[in-house]
Amino acid sequence: VDKKTKIIIIGCGAGGGTAAQLARKTDRNSEITIFEKGKYAQYSKCGLPYVLSGEISSFNNLIEFSENWFEKENIKLYLNTSVTEINKTKHIVLAKRDNEQIKKEFDKLIIATGAKAFIPSIKNIFENNKLVSGVHLLRTMDDAKALFSELKHTKKASIIGAGLIGLEIADTLYKKGIDITIIESLSNILENTLDIDMSEPIKKELEVKTNLFTNHIASKIETENSRIKQIIIKNKETNQEKKIETDLLVIATGSKPEVNLAEKIGCKIGKRGGIIISEKTLTSLSNIYAVGDCTEYKDFVTNEPTCVGLGSIAVRHGIAAGVNAAGGEYNLPSGLLQTRTSEFFGFEVAAVGLVKNVIKNIQTVYGKFSGSSLPHYYPGGKNITIKVGVNEKNGEIVSAQAVGSNAAQRINVFACAIQNNVRVENLKKLETAYAPPIAPTLDVLTLSCDVAFLKYSRKKR
Ligand SMILES: Cc1cc2nc3c(=O)[nH]c(=O)nc-3n(C[C@H](O)[C@H](O)[C@H](O)COP(=O)(O)OP(=O)(O)OC[C@H]3O[C@@H](n4cnc5c(N)ncnc54)[C@H](O)[C@@H]3O)c2cc1C
Repeated sequence: VDKKTKIIIIGCGAGGGTAAQLARKTDRNSEITIFEKGKYAQYSKCGLPYVLSGEISSFNNLIEFSENWFEKENIKLYLNTSVTEINKTKHIVLAKRDNEQIKKEFDKLIIATGAKAFIPSIKNIFENNKLVSGVHLLRTMDDAKALFSELKHTKKASIIGAGLIGLEIADTLYKKGIDITIIESLSNILENTLDIDMSEPIKKELEVKTNLFTNHIASKIETENSRIKQIIIKNKETNQEKKIETDLLVIATGSKPEVNLAEKIGCKIGKRGGIIISEKTLTSLSNIYAVGDCTEYKDFVTNEPTCVGLGSIAVRHGIAAGVNAAGGEYNLPSGLLQTRTSEFFGFEVAAVGLVKNVIKNIQTVYGKFSGSSLPHYYPGGKNITIKVGVNEKNGEIVSAQAVGSNAAQRINVFACAIQNNVRVENLKKLETAYAPPIAPTLDVLTLSCDVAFLKYSRKKR
């Protein structure tokens, strides 16, 4: 008699939910259980800023796969249920829903616990172990709902962190007519996505539309009636302090992998604090997989360990883990490209690979080109700037950044090139589609490669 494979998944986010779906597709008979500590089935975290802005009309629209959907697929989803312990020798998971203890056996376990918000140390930010009233995070649906409920009576808001999510929030609140202050401890905005020369125009726009403080640390909060009233920021160079009145503070300073359960059973944790996984998404322990934001994997170009923090990657991991746990075979590419994009304050931004400040072990030459999305004679062309990085040794493309029209789709072409070890000499000759109302004869993406190739050739001479 066929024995049903018992698959347990911890966490029903992008990674865990996808893993369940692919396990079901791969094996119609397996017994699949998901434990999710929150109260929602699989929803899009990435869409949260757009409910705040009103572009998406309701939080409910973000639910991608409902409880009913999982039920129809014969996947048992426990909501409001926290996994408290894994027993790896007995192959048992212990979970808690209110006061009820649930004990379940597994053949294959998939850890998809995501990440938790990183909160920098700021004096007075906690009261009775909770964030002071008016101070918010944006990681979960409940975080977003709490923030949303405050927007109507907010006149001044401050945001700590000028990364992709910080600027998405800033843009949302700015569009609501709120006076925005952005505090960033690094000397530049979007430090993990764009080089300084590429982010310059966005920084200039922010300086006009918001109060932007780069190179500043939020050191202290002052409250009135237990609610945030002021934030004190300090210039990192001069130590000079400044007080900023604020009705609201949003912390967007990144996240840390949630690895508690995995660490306790001895899954190898990497340099970057994530669970180390293989091409099959296996952890260091047999029959135990991990996916998404709780993991770490290699960078495709540098081979250096890198943490995951993107929904696209979590879903790809979920596909791999679901297929593999259910007896199929799915290998991840040998590394991560970190292809990413966003839009704020009128700028579409996208990048693939590491920025100049981070890509240390590979000598890189850069080519940059600014042009239009349409031929110069056709009305309505939009600016697009692309910068491409090329390995000085072998001419392979290692990174690209774009700001402007269709940045993401253009960056996807570079992602394809990097993943297939394409040399700049070849990409510069790519035959791109052309028609006056759609695209120019030679696309900015190939023109940026022309510039990079020239520089690369000069180095070679
Ligand atoms: C505001 C915002 C905007 C974003 N925008 C983008 C974007 O535009 N593009 C992009 O690629 N990425 C974006 N991301 C990142 C993306 O959302 C994450 O990479 C993705 O959600 C990771 O999926 P995950 O399944 O690994 O983790 P999560 O989605 O965090 O899911 C983990 C789940 O595990 C549950 N859990 C944890 N511990 C336990 C336990 N012990 N027992 C039971 N359940 C547990 C949690 O409750 C959670 O639901 C954004 C993130 C945020 C917060």
